[in-house]
Amino acid sequence: MIDHYLYILGIAIGNVAFGVLMLPYVRSNSVTPGLTVWMWARMAFGATQLLAWLRPETGWPLLAILESAGWIAGMTLEAAAYFMFFGYARLRRYLAPVAGLSLVLACAASLNGLPHRELVVYVSLVMGMGAFTTGAILMRLRQSDTTALQRLIGVSDMGSGAAMVFWALVFLAGLPVPGWGEAMAYVAGYLLLIVNGFGFILMSKQRDDARMARLATTDDLTGLLNRRAFFERAEAARLLALRQQQPITLLMLDIDHFKQLNDRFGHATGDEALVQFATSCNAALREHDILGRLGGEEFALALPGTDLEGALHAAERLRQGVLDIRLLTCGNSYTMTVSIGAVLIDPQEELPAALARADHALYEAKGNGRNRVEAGLPGRRRA
Ligand code: GH3
Ligand code: MG
Ligand code: MG
Repeated sequence: MIDHYLYILGIAIGNVAFGVLMLPYVRSNSVTPGLTVWMWARMAFGATQLLAWLRPETGWPLLAILESAGWIAGMTLEAAAYFMFFGYARLRRYLAPVAGLSLVLACAASLNGLPHRELVVYVSLVMGMGAFTTGAILMRLRQSDTTALQRLIGVSDMGSGAAMVFWALVFLAGLPVPGWGEAMAYVAGYLLLIVNGFGFILMSKQRDDARMARLATTDDLTGLLNRRAFFERAEAARLLALRQQQPITLLMLDIDHFKQLNDRFGHATGDEALVQFATSCNAALREHDILGRLGGEEFALALPGTDLEGALHAAERLRQGVLDIRLLTCGNSYTMTVSIGAVLIDPQEELPAALARADHALYEAKGNGRNRVEAGLPGRRRA
C-alpha cells in the first residue's frame, strides 16, 4: 500500500510547484480573471498538505487547527477562482460566509477536543462538497458554450468530490475503511492536483486564444469583420458556393459624403454613424451573410446562395435601412445615405477581380447621384 505521508508530501510539492510556477506569470501578465486567486488556492493547498505531513512528527495540536483551516481556505479560494472565471458575482457573495462558518466550526471543534479522526471526516465532507460544487459549476449544464475541456474538469471535480464525501461517510459510520476506499481517496486527491492544476491553466489559455482570435478578426469600432477576416471568410464562402454550384454575390458599400459629415459634426459623430451603419446592416442580413469593414467608410458584403437579383433586393433593403438611421450626436438632423455596387461572382473569377467589378459598380452609383444601387457588368469569362 502507498505510504500515506510520502503521498501527502508528493501532492504538497505538486501544489506548491504549481503555485510557485504561476507566481512570475501572474505578475507579468494581465491574466484571466480568477487565475491569481487560483494560484493562491494551489499555494494554500500545498502549504496545508505540508502541515499534514509535518503534524504527526510534531504532535502540536495547533497544527491540526491550522490544517483544517488551510483545507477550507484552499477550497474557498478555488471556488472563488471559478466564480471569478465564469463571472458568477451573485454566488461569490455566499462564499465568504460559508467559508467563514466552516472555518469557525473547524477551529471550535478542534479547540473543544474533537478527536482528530472526526475532524478529518468533517473537513473531508466540506472539501468533497466544495469539489462537487465547483464540478457542477464547470459543467454548466444550462449553458451552451461550455467547452469539452470544462466538462472534463467538471466530471473529474464531481467524481473527486463524490469520492471524498463517500469516504468521509464511511469513516463517520465507523465502518472499516476498505483498502480500495483509501486508494480511491488517493486517486481523488491526485486527480484534483493534476486535472485542476493543468485544467485551469488550459481553460485560461482557451479563453485567451478565443479573445485573441476575436481581436485579430474584428474591427474595433463596429464589431464587424476586419478586412483580412472578411477576405478569408468570403473566399471560403466562394469556394463552398463553387463546390455546391450555388450563386454567390459580392457588394461594395460606401457611405456618401462621409467626409462632410465628419467636418460638419466632428469625428465622434462620424464614429457613431459607422457604428449605426453596421448595426442597421446587420439587422437586415441573414446569419450566414458576410459583412466586413474594409477601411474608413467602406464595407464589403458577400451573400452566399444569393443571385444578382436577390443581391439587388438586399442592397435596396440596406440602402433604405441607412436612410432611417438617426444620429444622436448631431441631434437627429442628418440623413445618411449609402451607395452600393453589386456583382455576381463568376465561377471562374477570383475574389479580388470580383471586388474590383463591385467597386466599379459602386463608382457608377456615386457618379449617378449617390444613394443608389448599381449592378456591375458580368464577369469576363476565361476561354
Ligand atoms: P463619397 O460620397 O464620394 O464617398 O465621399 P466621402 O466623403 O464619403 O469619401 P472620402 O473618401 O472623401 O472620405 C472618407 C472620410 O472618412 C475621410 C476620413 O477622414 C473618414 N474616416 C475614415 N475612417 C474613419 C473613422 O474610423 N472614423 C471617422 N469618424 N471618420 C473616418
Ligand atoms: Mg464615402
Ligand atoms: Mg470611401
